[in-house]
Amino acid sequence: MSKILQWLLDLLYPRKCVLCTGLLEKDRVYLCDKCRKDTEKVKGKIHRGSFFTHCISVYYYEKDVSSAVKRLKFGGKAHYALCFGALIAERLAEEGTTCEAVTWVPVSAARKRARGYDQAYLIAKAVAECMGLPLLKSLKKIRHNPPQAREKDSASRRANVLNAYASVNPDAIRGKKLLLVDDVITSGATLSECCRILKMAGAESLYCATFAAARE
Ligand SMILES: [Zn+2]
Repeated sequence: MSKILQWLLDLLYPRKCVLCTGLLEKDRVYLCDKCRKDTEKVKGKIHRGSFFTHCISVYYYEKDVSSAVKRLKFGGKAHYALCFGALIAERLAEEGTTCEAVTWVPVSAARKRARGYDQAYLIAKAVAECMGLPLLKSLKKIRHNPPQAREKDSASRRANVLNAYASVNPDAIRGKKLLLVDDVITSGATLSECCRILKMAGAESLYCATFAAARE
């Protein structure tokens, strides 16, 4: 991109930190130095839920991180997905986790129409591009369930997502080590249900990655 064009873009759309929304220092992308340094990262692998080996997450779902996720989901900030995906790919590299293809937890067609995009698809696409891996559509949402945030205990969370998803593309899934991407892991009920469906469709193994994780 030409320098003049970049200068114009910066003038029209000043680049802001996705977490604190402060203006970014020159030559920084996505995060300001303070947020990069001070935001507490999730350490190690998360073992929560079933049908997948573990989940890798970047930050805890709280404060500026939860606000950023909400801006991506409900505030039209679709470009945040590039940042979330890049940070997930960084964490995956740190943990040394490998897979053959990247897939995602889809939103329903109705929600995608209302929102204009599927945020987990956009995050997964960025993860796949950063890791140089194929992006694979493997699931579709077949039942509209109330948002998981409204379900308090883990049994009702599991019941809420049961049979809400179906597999697609079984030939591409069979025998594969897949990485399933979503924006947030809370109880792990949604990821578990998606991985159950993918296992039944013949996936060899699954692990998950999210931008944010609720504290236990
Ligand atoms: Zn910041």
